[in-house]
Amino acid sequence: MTEITTVIAPLDGKSLDRGASLLRQGRLVAFPTETVYGLGADAGDDMAVARIFDAKGRPRFNPLIVHLPNMAAVERLVEVTPLARRLADSFWPGALTLVLRRKPRARLSALVSAGLETVAVRLPAHGGARDLLRLADRPIAAPSANASGRLSPTEAQHVAASLDGKLDLILDGGPCAVGLESTVVDATGETPALLRPGGIAAEAIEAIAGGRLVVAGSDDTAPASPGMLTSHYAPGLPIRLNAETAQAGEALIGFGPARDGEAANLSPSGDAMEAAANLFRLLHRLDDPARYSSIAVAPIPQAGLGRAINDRLRRAAS
Ligand code: AMP
Ligand code: MG
Repeated sequence: MTEITTVIAPLDGKSLDRGASLLRQGRLVAFPTETVYGLGADAGDDMAVARIFDAKGRPRFNPLIVHLPNMAAVERLVEVTPLARRLADSFWPGALTLVLRRKPRARLSALVSAGLETVAVRLPAHGGARDLLRLADRPIAAPSANASGRLSPTEAQHVAASLDGKLDLILDGGPCAVGLESTVVDATGETPALLRPGGIAAEAIEAIAGGRLVVAGSDDTAPASPGMLTSHYAPGLPIRLNAETAQAGEALIGFGPARDGEAANLSPSGDAMEAAANLFRLLHRLDDPARYSSIAVAPIPQAGLGRAINDRLRRAAS
C-alpha cells in the first residue's frame, strides 16, 4: 500500500474535530478507548473498512467491532434483545461488546461484519472516544490499532510503532485505563454466549444475565444462541474458484478486465482493496438459487488483501 503521513496529536478539541472530519472522508484515525487504542473508520463505507484490513495487514477477514456514542445509535443498527438491554443498562458505556442481529436497512458495510447477519457493537466509556463518535456522527468500526499478529496498543506510541505510514491521525489520550480488550458476548438469544473474555469478568455478566454464560464452542450440549455457531459467512450456493469463464447457470464474479457473461466485477481495475470492499455485498447479491446454480470467481492475485479474499473464498468453497 502507499505510505501516508501519520500525525500524532494530543487529544483536544482541535484534534477531535480533525479526527471526525477525516473519518467522515473515509480515512483512518486511531483513538484511545478505555480498553485499547482502536483503528477507526466509517463503518458504513466499504472502502474505509477495507482500508482497516489493508493497514493491519490481516491475512483474513474477521468481523470488526462497531463503536457508537449512545443507545439511540445502537438501536438504528441492530435488534436490541431484552438480554442485550439488561447487559447494556449495567455495563455501558464500558468494556463490553454485544453481538446482535443487524437491521436490514442499517447503514453498515457488509465487510464490517465479514458478511454475517450479526454485528458486534460497543459504547466505549472513554470521554475522548465518545466525543469523537459524537462528532463523526456515524458508526465507527475499530479493531485494535496494531498490525496483525502484534500486541494490542495501550499507548499512542504503540500505535505509531506498529502502523506509522498506514493511517492519517493518531489521537494521543495517554495510556488506556483498562488495557485489556472488551469482553465479547453474543446476546442475540435468551442465553448469553461468551465469544471472547476481556475487560469485564464473566461472573459480572452472569450476575446480570441471571444464568450461566455459555462459552462459545466449548460445549455442544449448550443451547447455542443463533449466530454464535456461524463463525464465518459462506454463501448457500456452491463456489468455484479461479474461473476464467462462466458455465451454464453460474454467476461469474470477475476481477480486473471484464470477461464474457460476467454477472458482477469485484474491481474492474484489479485493485484488491476495492475488491475487498465489494466482496461480501456481491456474494450476498448473487447468492440466489432462483437465478443461479453456483457462483464462479475469477482468479485473484495472492497479494495484499487478495490473500484475505482468497482465504475467505477457499473456505466458502470447501
Ligand atoms: P478486535 O477487532 O480485535 O477488537 O476483535 C473483535 C472480536 O469480536 C473478535 O474476537 C471477533 O471475532 C468478535 N466479533 C466481532 N463481530 C462478531 C460477530 N458478528 N459474531 C461473532 N463474533 C464477532
Ligand atoms: Mg486485536
